[in-house]
Amino acid sequence: MTTPLEEIIKAEIRESGPISVARYMALCLGHPQYGYYMTRDPFGVEGDFTTAPEISQLFGEMIGIWLADTWIKMGSPGKVALVECGPGRGTLMQDALRATKNVAGFHEAVTLHLIEMSPVLQEQQKQRLAEYDASWHNDTESLPGDSPLLIIGNEFLDALPVRQMVFRETGWVEKFVEIDINGSFRLCEKTAENDRKNLLPTLLVPPKLGDHLEVSPEQKEFMQRIIKIIKKQRGSALFLDYGFKHLVSGDTLQSVKNHAFCNMLEHPGEVDITAHVNFAMITAYIMEENMTVHGPVSQGDFLSRLGIEVRADQLTRIANRSQSEEIKQALKRLTGQDTKAGEMGALFKAIAFSHDPSINLAGFS
Ligand code: SAH
Repeated sequence: MTTPLEEIIKAEIRESGPISVARYMALCLGHPQYGYYMTRDPFGVEGDFTTAPEISQLFGEMIGIWLADTWIKMGSPGKVALVECGPGRGTLMQDALRATKNVAGFHEAVTLHLIEMSPVLQEQQKQRLAEYDASWHNDTESLPGDSPLLIIGNEFLDALPVRQMVFRETGWVEKFVEIDINGSFRLCEKTAENDRKNLLPTLLVPPKLGDHLEVSPEQKEFMQRIIKIIKKQRGSALFLDYGFKHLVSGDTLQSVKNHAFCNMLEHPGEVDITAHVNFAMITAYIMEENMTVHGPVSQGDFLSRLGIEVRADQLTRIANRSQSEEIKQALKRLTGQDTKAGEMGALFKAIAFSHDPSINLAGFS
C-alpha cells in the first residue's frame, strides 16, 4: 500500500529528477501535511520509539539541575530565555521545571520558549506545560533578542536531515533517491559537485574506497545560529543525542517503526528516520566561534555526575516494590553501557558550550 507522501515524493522526482537523501528525509519527517512528526505522537510503548525523558522522570530532573546550576554559575541573571529544541511530548521540560521550583529566583527569571515544528506535538506540550507561560517557535529567528539564553535539545539533532556522500574510484559521490522500473524507491549515486568543498570536512583524509560521510547542512546552520545568538546575548546550551565522539565513516541512517528497524524507502511519512550525530562536527562548529566546548561525554557519565544515582535512591525510599524495580530498570537503561541491550549510557552523549569560558558546566568533569 502506498502512502500519500509516497505519491508526492514520486511526483517531485518525476518532475525534477532524483532527490538527495537529505531532501527525502526532510520530506518524510517534516512535510507539512504528511511528515512523520507532523501527524502523530511517536513516543512510548504504544508508539515507535522511547526517548530518555519518556523512560523516567529522573532524566528531566537531572537536566533541570543542570539548568539551574548553569543559571547560578552565569550569575543568576534576572531574565533568561529557557529554550527547548524539539520538546516531543514536553515531558523533559515538565520534569526539569518541577525539579527546579525551589531554586530561589530561577522560575521568576525564566521565560519559556519551545522550538517545535509539529502541530500535534505542540498541542501535547501545551497540555503538559499548561501551568507555565510558554511561547512556541518554528525556528530560532523569533527567539528573544534581549536576554541571555539557556538552550537544550534531546534527540533533536538526530532528526535533522543528512546528506550522504560515498568515496568511489571517481571521487566523492552523493546518494540520491530515484524510482526503479517497478515504481519503488531506490538509492542511486551522483557525482558530488559544486558545494562538495563546503560540506566535506577535511578530517577524513585520505578517504578510503567505500567511505561514507554524512553531513547535515541543516544541523550546521542550526548550530551556527544558536552559537552566534549565545555569543551575542550570553548563555549556555546543552545537547544530548546518540552518535559518535569522533568523525566516523559509515551509513548510519536508521528507520524505526513499532520499536523495530525497517527500510527507510518504504512507507515514507509513517516511519521515523534519524542519523547518528557526528559530535566531532558539532565540536568544530563551536570551536570555529572560539567558544569552549564541554564534552562530548557519555550520557552515563553525565547523568552520574549530576547525581542520578542519589536521586534514584531517594525515590526508591518512598516507592513500593514494583516502583523500586521500575526505578532500577530506568536507571540501568539511561546510564548502562550495554548498547545492544538498548542501554543508552554509552551510545548517547552530552555536549555543551557557554559564552563564558570560565564557567565550569556541571556533568562534564
Ligand atoms: N526531545 C524529545 C523529542 C525528540 S524527537 C524527547 O526527548 O522525547 C524530535 C523532536 O524534534 C520532535 O518533537 C520533533 O517534532 C522535533 N523536530 C524535528 N525536526 C525539527 C525541526 N526541523 N524544527 C523543529 N522541531 C523539529
